[in-house]
Amino acid sequence: MDKLLFGTGGTPHSSRTPSTIDGIRRIAELGLGCMELEFVQGVRMGEAGARLVAETAAREGVKLSAHGPYFINLNAHEPEKIIASQGRILQTARIAAICGAESIIFHAAYYLGDPPEKTYSSVKRYLAEVMNQLKRENNRVWVRVEVMGKPSEFGTIDEILNLCTELEGVGIGMDFAHAHARSGLSNSYPEFASILQQIKQRLGDQALDNMHIHVSGIAYGEKGERKHLNLKESDFNYAELLKALKDYEVKGIVICESPNLEGDALLLQETYHNL
Ligand SMILES: [Zn+2]
Repeated sequence: MDKLLFGTGGTPHSSRTPSTIDGIRRIAELGLGCMELEFVQGVRMGEAGARLVAETAAREGVKLSAHGPYFINLNAHEPEKIIASQGRILQTARIAAICGAESIIFHAAYYLGDPPEKTYSSVKRYLAEVMNQLKRENNRVWVRVEVMGKPSEFGTIDEILNLCTELEGVGIGMDFAHAHARSGLSNSYPEFASILQQIKQRLGDQALDNMHIHVSGIAYGEKGERKHLNLKESDFNYAELLKALKDYEVKGIVICESPNLEGDALLLQETYHNL
C-alpha cells in the first residue's frame, strides 16, 4: 500500500442504513479510506452480496478488510470445535476475497489453562491446515492473527510474530488498544516505536508497508481488557502512536473500534495528517 488509511470497524453510525453497501458509501462521504466488515457473529454474506460489495468499494475507492467470527478457538479441546473454527476462518477468507478485501483478522485461541507453548503449537498446527487449504484455492488474502487484550487469550505480540515467521501468508493484526490493556504498558512513543521496530526486525521492512492496525480507547484492569471507550474518554495516547506510525512510515489500514466509530476514525485521521 502507498499510504496509511483510516476507517471504521463496521458500518459508520451515520450511514443511511446499517447495510455494508451504505457503510462503504458513508466512509467515502466522510473522507475516510477503509472499512472492516464485521463477520463477528458469523459470515452471513453470500457470494452475490459480496460481489456487490466489491463493486461498491472499488467505485467509492474504499479499502476493505474483514473480521472473522468470535467463535473461533484453535486450541479447543474438542476436535469438532477445531474443525468448526477452521471452517469459520476459511469462510471469512473466501467471502473477504470476493469482496476484494486484502486481509482478514481474527481472534485465534484461548489458553484454557494450557501452557502458552502447548497453545502455540495447536494454533500453529491448525492454522497451517487452513493456510494450505487457502493456497489450494488460490486465495491470497492475508490472514491476520490479532494481538489480544486479556491474559486468558492467546495473542501476545511475540506469539503472533513467531507464527508469522513460521506460516506463509499469516500476518500480524496489530491491535494497539489490546496490547495496552494486556499489560497497562505500551502507551508511549518509545513503547510504540519499539513495537514497530520489533515487527520490522522479525518480519522485514515490507511488514510495515502493509499493516493492519486496530485502535480504540480501552478500559482495563487486572484481567486485561474490560471494554472499548472513545479515545478522549480513555488514557490511550493516540497522538504518540500516530507520531510513531508516521516516523516509521507505516502504511496500510487503521481500523477504529471506539464506540463512536467514525468520530474517532476522523480524529485519528486528522491528527495524523496534522503531524
Ligand atoms: Zn478483534
